[in-house]
Amino acid sequence: MPHAAVMPRSRLPRVGTTIFTVMSRMAHEAGAVNLSQGYPDFNAEPFLFDRVSHWMHAGMNQYPPMAGMPALREAIAAKVSHLYGAEYDPETEVTVTAGATQALFTAVAALVHPGDEVVVLEPVYDSYVPAIELQGGIPVRVSLAAPHYRPDWTALRAAITPRTRMIMINTPHNPTGAVWTEDDLRALAQLVDGTDIVVVSDEVYEHIVFDGARHESCGRHSDLAARSIIVSSFGKTYHITGWKVGYVLAPAELMVEFRKVHQFNVFTVNTPVQLALADYMERAERHLGLAAFYQAKRDYFREALGASKFDLLPCGGTYFQLASYAALSDEPDTSFVEWLTRTVGVAAIPVSAFHHDGRDAHVVRFCFAKDEATLAAACERLCAL
Ligand code: PMP
Ligand code: GLN
Repeated sequence: MPHAAVMPRSRLPRVGTTIFTVMSRMAHEAGAVNLSQGYPDFNAEPFLFDRVSHWMHAGMNQYPPMAGMPALREAIAAKVSHLYGAEYDPETEVTVTAGATQALFTAVAALVHPGDEVVVLEPVYDSYVPAIELQGGIPVRVSLAAPHYRPDWTALRAAITPRTRMIMINTPHNPTGAVWTEDDLRALAQLVDGTDIVVVSDEVYEHIVFDGARHESCGRHSDLAARSIIVSSFGKTYHITGWKVGYVLAPAELMVEFRKVHQFNVFTVNTPVQLALADYMERAERHLGLAAFYQAKRDYFREALGASKFDLLPCGGTYFQLASYAALSDEPDTSFVEWLTRTVGVAAIPVSAFHHDGRDAHVVRFCFAKDEATLAAACERLCAL
C-alpha cells in the first residue's frame, strides 16, 4: 500500500500543465499532424553536431565559467553590435542561459520584490505570469486587440503606477506574429522615461521578421537599452529547441543582479554545446537567412489554407499563424482543437490559453516550422472541412 502523500500548499494553485505539453501529447496519442507546440520537424545542419562532438572529444566537458564560455559571449556581443549597433561587454553584460524560459524566470526572480507590479501584454506567453507570481509580484495585464494586436499606449500609460517595477514585452510576438515598429519602441521609451521600470524584452524570434521589416531590438535604442534585459534563444534560430540554450544582454548594473540568481538556479550551461554554437555563429548567413526561410513557409502555408474556411490573421514574424475558425464552428477553442486533433488529425493551440480569463475569440495558432510535406498533409485535412 502506498503511503498517503503529504498535501502541499501549492504556490501556483491555478496552474496546470502547459498547453504546449498537453497538445503535443494529444497529437501523439491521436497520430495527428502536430502544428501545436512550436518546434521544427526538420534537423539542424550536421556541421553543428560535428562541432559538439569535436569539443566533447577535445575534453571540453567540465564546468564553463558561470556566465558562459567567453567564445560564445564574444560571438553574441559581435552579432548584436553588427545587427543593432548595440555594444555589450562580453565580460559583464552577456550571460548564456539554459534557454529563454530560464532567462525570463531568472530576470523576474532577480528584480521583482513581493508587491511589485509587472505589466504584461495579453495574449501573453505562458511562462511570464507564473514567474511573476512565484516572486509575490502582481501581474498587471494590458490587452492587445485582434486582428493586429498593436500595443494600446493609452491603456499602457494607465497601467503604470508608482509600484510598477517591470514591463515584459515580446517582439516578434508569440502567438500573434505581431512585430513592433520603431515608433512602438519610441513610445515605450517615453512611457518609462523618468521611472525606474526595467524592461524585459523577449526577442527569441529576432531573426524571424517578414516582408522586409526589421527587428526592433531594445538594444537598438540607447535609452531603452540602459534599462532592458534582452532575452534570446538559440533554439528558435538554429532549429535546436531541445538543446535549451539562450542568452541575456543587459547593462552591467542589471546583469550583476541577474547573475546572482542565475548562479544558483542553473549556475551555467553545457560546455561543448556553447563552444559549438560559437563556431556556428561565425557565418552570419546562418541566422540572417532565417527570415527568408520562414517567410517561404509562411507563404506556402497561407496559400494552401486560402482554400479552407479558416480566416487567416496577419503574420509579420515568428513561425506561428493565427486563424479564426468562426466560419466552421461556434465551439470554444479548447473543444475545437481537441476535435481538430482527435478527429481531423491536425493539432493546434487554442489562443484562450494565452489569456488569464480564458477569453476566446475562436482563434487557434498553427506552427509552420515544418517540412513542406507536413504542411501539405495538414492543409489537405484542414481544407476538407
Ligand atoms: N519566449 C517565447 C515568446 C517563446 O515562444 C518561447 C518558446 N517557444 C520561449 C520564450 C522559450 O524559449 P526556450 O525554449 O529557449 O526556453
Ligand atoms: N514556446 C513554444 C511554443 O510557443 C513551446 C515551448 C514549451 O513547450 N514550453 O509553442
